[in-house]
Amino acid sequence: MITTEALSHIPLFESARDEALETILSRSADVRVKAGDWIVLEGEAAAFYVVVEGRCEIVKMIAGAEQVVDVVEPGGFFGEVPLLLGSGFLAGVRTTMPSRLMRLEAVDFHELVARCPNANHQILAEMARRVTGLQQASIAAPIMSVTVLGRRDDFACYDLRDFLARNQIGFRWLDPGDTAAIQAAGVPLELLHADNYPAVLFADRSYLIKPAYPELAQRLGLQTAPRKTTYDVAIVGAGPAGLSAALYGASEGLQTVLVECRAPGGQAGTSSRIENYLGFPAGVSGDDLASRAFHQAKRFGAEVIVTRQATSIEPRDGSGTTHAIVLDCGNRVQTKAIVLATGVTWRRLTLPGADALLGRGVYYGASRTEALGARGKDIFLIGGGNSAGQAAMLFSGYARSVTIMVRGEKLAASMSQYLIDELKKKENVQIEYTCECVSVTGSGHLESIEVAYKNGEQKTFPADMLFIFIGSEPETKWLPEALIRDAQGFICTGRDVLDLQPAGATRARDPYLLETSIPGIFAAGDVRHGSMKRVASSVGEGSMAIALVHQYIGEP
Ligand SMILES: Cc1cc2nc3c(=O)[nH]c(=O)nc-3n(C[C@H](O)[C@H](O)[C@H](O)COP(=O)(O)OP(=O)(O)OC[C@H]3O[C@@H](n4cnc5c(N)ncnc54)[C@H](O)[C@@H]3O)c2cc1C
Repeated sequence: MITTEALSHIPLFESARDEALETILSRSADVRVKAGDWIVLEGEAAAFYVVVEGRCEIVKMIAGAEQVVDVVEPGGFFGEVPLLLGSGFLAGVRTTMPSRLMRLEAVDFHELVARCPNANHQILAEMARRVTGLQQASIAAPIMSVTVLGRRDDFACYDLRDFLARNQIGFRWLDPGDTAAIQAAGVPLELLHADNYPAVLFADRSYLIKPAYPELAQRLGLQTAPRKTTYDVAIVGAGPAGLSAALYGASEGLQTVLVECRAPGGQAGTSSRIENYLGFPAGVSGDDLASRAFHQAKRFGAEVIVTRQATSIEPRDGSGTTHAIVLDCGNRVQTKAIVLATGVTWRRLTLPGADALLGRGVYYGASRTEALGARGKDIFLIGGGNSAGQAAMLFSGYARSVTIMVRGEKLAASMSQYLIDELKKKENVQIEYTCECVSVTGSGHLESIEVAYKNGEQKTFPADMLFIFIGSEPETKWLPEALIRDAQGFICTGRDVLDLQPAGATRARDPYLLETSIPGIFAAGDVRHGSMKRVASSVGEGSMAIALVHQYIGEP
């Protein structure tokens, strides 16, 4: 037990009477922690800690990297900032040596302040010092880690910017036409040639011209190849389902690797605001949610490989103990179990002129990075689902006008009521009902769209950007034939496998709830037949899949 004698040497309690110390001690927990353990994580509910023995460091994720912003020695304390601001912890705290701490809950913290005359002043002074420190660390962090040089109407440049944003790499974008900005940025003259765009410049003035994403990812320090030869579980696809599986797998002690062909986040990463995910009353942007999940999974030890596509699976044969996933770079990932979380991708629209203008005013889906490009523009959206509604809400803050085009007579059948109500409040958003976009035109960039109405009328609208949201489909043709899918390509699991398997097929046991027709290969999230197509359900399925992986691995 921590004694009143030990407390009396701590500056915070110096002038407190013995009975006050007794009361505080009676309400406190005596926390003993090993070196390197987390005491609190960023975002956790506030509590007050006093370091009695050992040493702790305060760690904050800034611009995607961990930074130690303060250290706390014996006699020091932490937790006052979130307690006084009424927020969660703004940074995590980890020990650097075996440590012992006194922990007080929020209500008891206020008792401490009332009973110890010196405490109030010390706590406020410490809080001011820490908030200033956090502010300085954020300002000093290198937010712009690379510069992209490329033309606005070049799809490759748009795609590159999207890739960087989704991998949480801060970047500045320079258009070759902006000579003043180019000179000010000190862009090497030899780069200024149309054949070189898009190019990526690094802080040390080196650059890559039209980089392939795996090459760029390596240069940026992202992981692009597996580090081990064999894993307990390999997950394909880093959307909400895959990230959740990686987090639960790694946190439950499984050797876990997650393979993603582009960047963490999946479809959710392209969503400007997810309003209905538990725990975020004001909504959360998809890239923020993805970034948090990515760092959480990594902190538990999951390996996250980006820019690598899984191209085939070699299921475990009778004598073997592992399945293999073959990646597009030729690497093989040997693993006891696999979770397929490859989601779905936007369905393509056959619209005359659209393919030639893809990335030059015509886009599938919309992420937050597009919002600035929409400033003062006339934006059109095809689709009446929630994705189109959320994008319209995002663009309405930037664009001159936002027009949603739908085939039906109302939105209620396809869009949530809360979004319909929000859209009604926006003066620059209008909805064109019973119509269809029939062609798009523009030389080099979208200039106008042709819209046909059910009553036979046809209109041409000048348009700067057209975003298409017309549903999605799974890409599962690369999977082994023995893995049963439905007619649309969604992967069947559990009971559905038994319904669709060839007559007379026999198996040693029925598949687990999220297990496919191949034992040890599971599916989670949107790619699964019958899934709910929501962030929350995908996250839930990712964690459930890991519980079933444990059962599979534990089988005799
Ligand atoms: C614009 C938009 C807005 C949305 N808004 C909401 C909302 O507000 N609320 C809500 O609940 N849901 C929303 N959704 C739906 C939600 O985002 C999805 O249900 C969820 O992302 C599905 O997660 P997932 O992990 O199953 O798949 P996905 O998010 O589709 O992720 C799959 C990942 O797998 C990767 N991948 C695919 N094939 C391979 C391969 N062979 N090798 C390696 N990697 C591969 C992909 O690159 C992708 O990153 C929205 C969707 C969109 C598009």
